[in-house]
Amino acid sequence: MFFPNGSFFSIFTLVSLRYIILAGLAFLIWYIIRKKKIAFKKIQPRFPVLKDYQREILYSIITMFIFSIIPWLILGNPEIKKHTTWYTDINRHGTLYFWLAVPLMLVMHDTYFYFTHRLMHHPKLFKLFHLVHHKSTNPSPWAAFAFHPLEAVVEIGILIVYLFTIPVMKAHLFFFFLFMMVYNVYGHLGWELYPKNFHRTWIGKWINTSINHNQHHQYFTGNYGLYFLFWDRIFGTIRKDYDSKFDEVINRKAA
Ligand SMILES: [Zn+2]
Ligand SMILES: [Zn+2]
Repeated sequence: MFFPNGSFFSIFTLVSLRYIILAGLAFLIWYIIRKKKIAFKKIQPRFPVLKDYQREILYSIITMFIFSIIPWLILGNPEIKKHTTWYTDINRHGTLYFWLAVPLMLVMHDTYFYFTHRLMHHPKLFKLFHLVHHKSTNPSPWAAFAFHPLEAVVEIGILIVYLFTIPVMKAHLFFFFLFMMVYNVYGHLGWELYPKNFHRTWIGKWINTSINHNQHHQYFTGNYGLYFLFWDRIFGTIRKDYDSKFDEVINRKAA
C-alpha cells in the first residue's frame, strides 16, 4: 500500500491516509496535547470552533475523492497513460534527473499555485472557486484540503501539468505529494515553526511560512505563495505587515 497500484481504491487509500495521519497528528499534538502550554504563541489567539473543523474535514473528504479520481482516470487508463511522460525505468532519464525531479516539481507547483490562486481571487471567480477555503479565516490543520470541488480540480491540475511536460516516476509523485501535504498542514497549523528572525535570513526571505499563509486566511489579500515567496516578492504581493507580524508572534512571552 506504500505505492498505489493504479486502482482507484489504492490511490484513495494513500491520499486519505496521508491527510488523516499528517493533519490528525498535527491536530493531536498542537490542538490537544500541547494546547495549554503553547496557546500564547498561536498566530491568531482564538481557536476555531467545532463547526469549523467539521466544515474543513467535510470539504477535505470531497477533495480527496477528486484528488484520487483524476490520477486514476489518467494513470489507470492505458490508452491515456501511454501519451503521458510516465516512466518506470530509472535509467531512461538518469539518476541526476531522478533526484532533481522533485525539487523541479516543487518550483513548478509553487508557480502554478501562485498564478491559479491569484486568478481565483478575481471577484468573478472568488465565490465559486475559492470562498470555501477562505471560510477558514483562522485555519486549523484540517483546512489543508478544504476546497470547493471546483478548486480541488484546479489544485490537482498540477498533476496533469507534470504528466504532460516532465518525466515522472511513481517515487516522484509519492515524495512530491508527501512534501506537499506536510507543508500544507504546516501552512494551516496555526503556529509558527521557523525560528526567530528566519524571515530576515537570506533563505528565509524566499521561503513561505505559516505566519505568511495565516495572514492570507485572516485578511484575504496578499501572500499568495505556497512553498516559496519568489512570486510574491516579484509582484509585490507580500503583505506590508508580514515582517512585523512574524516578529510579534515569535517574540511573545507566556503570560
Ligand atoms: Zn486565497
Ligand atoms: Zn490556505
